[in-house]
Parts: sequence; C-alpha cells; structure tokens
Amino acid sequence: MHELGITQSLVEIAERAASEQGAQRVLTLTVEIGELAGVVPDAVAFCFEACVHGTLLEGSQLLIRSIPGRAHCAGCATEVAVEPMTIACPACGSFALERRQGEELRLLELEIE
Ligand SMILES: [Zn+2]
Repeated sequence: MHELGITQSLVEIAERAASEQGAQRVLTLTVEIGELAGVVPDAVAFCFEACVHGTLLEGSQLLIRSIPGRAHCAGCATEVAVEPMTIACPACGSFALERRQGEELRLLELEIE
C-alpha cells in the first residue's frame, strides 16, 4: 500500500510548515487528490491516523478534496471526463488523450493554532 509513504510525506510537509509558522498544533489539513493520481483517498485517511501520532498533527482533521479526471482529446478537440482506466476518448474513440486534470496530489490548506 503506497498510500502509507504518501501520507507520511504529506504529514512531514505539513508539520514542517506548521512549525515554521510557530504553530502549537494543527487543526485541519486539506489535501487535494486527483482521481487519476493512483491514490485511494480512503487509504490515505486510514494511514493518516497512524502517521500523525506524536506530531503537531495529532488530533487534527483531514479533509480530502477530490479532483475529477479531465483530458483534452486531439481527435475531437474537446475536453472530456476520464477515469483512471480510460485510454480512449469516450466521445470519439480516439487514443489521443492528454490528461489535463486529476493527477494532483498536494497539500492545499493548513489550519493551525
Ligand atoms: Zn475525442
């Protein structure tokens, strides 16, 4: 489960940012996870509980914002919604898809006190 490593680095980055701002603790952490990022949000939420133990993030709330997958199709020159397994354009069947959105995996917001 590679979500454990991903969650660990998110927590590390968040803790560093929080301590740089002189935070006593982190209240909420908002992360953006694209549907095409190959990361299962539920698994991240599960690992989060274990990863925050003993850090500034202990007891904080994790908010996950999901970003839908979108790609530009060169075949029909439109932007289409895509899922992780989509390899052909759902509109015209072309394989000339270029992913534009949905591969995000980043820290969006940190609420501290
Ligand atoms: Zn198309």
